[in-house]
Amino acid sequence: MKNIVLFGGPGAGKGTQAAKLKEKYSLNHISTGEVIRAEIAAETPLGKSMKDYISRGELAPDALVIDIIADYVKSHSDCAGNIFDGFPRTTAQAEAFDKIMERDGLKVDVMLELVVPEEELIKRLVLRGEVSGRADDANEGVIRNRIAVYNAQTAVVAEFYKAQGKYVAIDGIGTIDEIFDRLCAAIDSIE
Ligand code: AMP
Repeated sequence: MKNIVLFGGPGAGKGTQAAKLKEKYSLNHISTGEVIRAEIAAETPLGKSMKDYISRGELAPDALVIDIIADYVKSHSDCAGNIFDGFPRTTAQAEAFDKIMERDGLKVDVMLELVVPEEELIKRLVLRGEVSGRADDANEGVIRNRIAVYNAQTAVVAEFYKAQGKYVAIDGIGTIDEIFDRLCAAIDSIE
């Protein structure tokens, strides 16, 4: 079983690559951002409580996101593996995640970071905003805030996995297939 944390700034290509990895390795995939957007669209109480954070480009509260992951892990502990996309995004989430995984006799195998310079991220997100329909992609101020939040709260999560010897940096510049090949080479070498 392979449990992979796919890491990187907003617009780094996590969603695109997760879809391809899922296919190739028969993994399950969870994107906390997608779960949150679905909750908001369905106007659930959870969605309502997260809507303002997302629209400002801020992080949703740790406790809510950790609950989402705990539920997910409980129901996906018996499969080829999982890709965690957009989670963990704070050190508190990473610490809680280790405990959740341990409870089911699981562990994170590797964190793969798609490394993309900030100006390239902004360019990609502005472009994506023209087609994605995502409210948080549509406004450059919100995009810049998401990157500032990433730098302030999320980038440090890489240190958590580096300390566990599980961190691998992947060059996130190139064609989708080139980047995919780099990810696959890293995954194939962890067995
Ligand atoms: P994403 O689709 O990963 O870009 O996430 C979109 C938005 O969902 C983020 O800007 C946050 O507001 C929220 N979000 C997604 N994942 C998390 C997380 N792990 N912790 C807190 N907020 C999150």
